[in-house]
Amino acid sequence: MKYTTLGKTGLRVSVVGLGGIPIQRTDAAGAKRVIDACIETGINYIDTARGYTVSEDYIGQALEGRREKFVIATKSMARTYEAMKADIELSLRLLRTDYIDLYQIHNIKSDEEFSTCFGENGAYRALAEARDAGKIGHIGATAHGVEAFERLITEFEDKIETIMFPYNIVENQGAALIRESAAKNIAVIAMKPLAGGNIEDATLAMKYILANPDCTVAIPGMGDTCEVYQNAAAADLGALTDEEKRACETIVRDLGQNFCRRCGYCAPCPKGINVPSALLFANYLRHYGLADWARSRYFSMSATAKDCVQCGACESRCPYELPIRQMLRKVAEDMGEV
Ligand code: SF4
Ligand code: SF4
Repeated sequence: MKYTTLGKTGLRVSVVGLGGIPIQRTDAAGAKRVIDACIETGINYIDTARGYTVSEDYIGQALEGRREKFVIATKSMARTYEAMKADIELSLRLLRTDYIDLYQIHNIKSDEEFSTCFGENGAYRALAEARDAGKIGHIGATAHGVEAFERLITEFEDKIETIMFPYNIVENQGAALIRESAAKNIAVIAMKPLAGGNIEDATLAMKYILANPDCTVAIPGMGDTCEVYQNAAAADLGALTDEEKRACETIVRDLGQNFCRRCGYCAPCPKGINVPSALLFANYLRHYGLADWARSRYFSMSATAKDCVQCGACESRCPYELPIRQMLRKVAEDMGEV
């Protein structure tokens, strides 16, 4: 495993970290096995979030007695002082620790959110107080859009020490800002390394990210030990070969930009459609030769693309501004519903 410094925080972290979303798919024993594998492979950075249901809790249980081996990062969607203060306390309790190394303001987007978070009674004040009290070590932020990314590393560069942003073979819209962040010593945490499950070759995906010297740490989601071993091994591989570069170009050509990252921010749909799942199954049908499996999973959902009434509520919440209505019309067509 290779290690690096997490920007201004000065923390030493493995270049591959544990993304904590898939911990939700396992149980407490499974989470413990994942943490065991992290120790075995040298992964010492853990990313979780208040919003990942049981993730903080399972990770906290798995870390009992060995918390000091890890740099723990979590995050919250809280925007106000009181809400963030409560979330910090809850994270500390669930993670079973008396300090969290890095606490991030999660998925900040609109002007209103920026004003609230960094205003007098905003989330940032609660984080700064917690840092002064030794409950958290450092403060960071996460963003999904380039505008928010740019604001964070320009207007708020004296407040945040890390930035988390999607970066992978098909999402390099943040490349210039990633370079700028690195120049300012604001650590870049690359999220969505597999583009929300759209990239199948995990090793290639990790090699692509780790080849960028401006990315500090990549955090693939891992819910089982095989994923830990595979992703950790990628850290010790060299630069991309010409053949691998060509494979990356093929992936970019095949996926294009209109794909779902499975963040789930578009929910809830008034008709009960699970938008990311509908798009995912259609993706499997089209790209991976898993037509029967994809159709059976798709038609077991209580609502499918044909039920969409085109209200557009999901689109207004999608941080990637995907044309979901149009995409669902195509899903219904491909699935033979219309
Ligand atoms: S546009 Fe369709 S999928 Fe989106 S919220 Fe409305 S009904 Fe649901
Ligand atoms: S459609 Fe947009 S908001 Fe919904 S899961 Fe996909 S990327 Fe996220």
